[in-house]
Amino acid sequence: CGIVGYVGHRQALDVVLDGLRRLEYRGYDSAGVAVNAGDALAVERKAGRLANLEARLDEVGREGFAGTTGMGHTRWATHGPPVDRNSHPHSDMTGRVAVVHNGIIENFVALRGELEAVGVEFASDTDTETAAHLVSRAYSGLDDSGTKGDLPASVRAVCRRLEGAFTLVVTHADEPDQVVAARRSSPLVVGLGEGETFVASDVAAFIEHTRDAVELGQDQVVVITRDGYDVTDFHGEPAPVKPFQVTWDL
Ligand code: GLU
Repeated sequence: CGIVGYVGHRQALDVVLDGLRRLEYRGYDSAGVAVNAGDALAVERKAGRLANLEARLDEVGREGFAGTTGMGHTRWATHGPPVDRNSHPHSDMTGRVAVVHNGIIENFVALRGELEAVGVEFASDTDTETAAHLVSRAYSGLDDSGTKGDLPASVRAVCRRLEGAFTLVVTHADEPDQVVAARRSSPLVVGLGEGETFVASDVAAFIEHTRDAVELGQDQVVVITRDGYDVTDFHGEPAPVKPFQVTWDL
């Protein structure tokens, strides 16, 4: 439903929670965050209002979420009931990858069957979790995509296999200086700040930080870093995008 990703110089947890709050008007049933906290991802998710997630973060201690790369999601459940374990972000079995997703992966039953056949254990009922395992396997060199150690290429390889509508945002514990996002038939915008870059499902998520935005086209992947962004199609070819200024107030 609502998506925010961030790489910059501020605490990602604050930026992401702020962004999610600004997307609350869209409606949602669960919320979650992932922060690249040094050598591991710190992930927390909770059914219900953002306030539930924030209470949970206070309970576990926000100091474990120190880091300047992160992402968050508010979920509108389509596959699996709105409970904690189905809330995003979703991870692979090692917890090194986290994925948030808007939309529906239509061929997830086939993909899940294929993954289970090679020993993958699922922790949720969602269509989204298939993407987390697929990215993890592509990045680790466990499949035949040939994208080992290359997160953007791994995400592109996975996107080529997904059917349906999706905005995906991916972060990997081994790649603290980037966030990778992709879209097909579901919105995705980039926000360009000074030494910080945002991705979101809606400019509302970052408008308080920057009004320089870029709209992604169909079937595109963007890599954001502190210094900017790079857009390709699902095959890695440079792709045209639409920079624009957000001139309205919310
Ligand atoms: N299909 C996903 C799920 O049910 C994403 C839903 C959304 O767009 O929030 O978890």
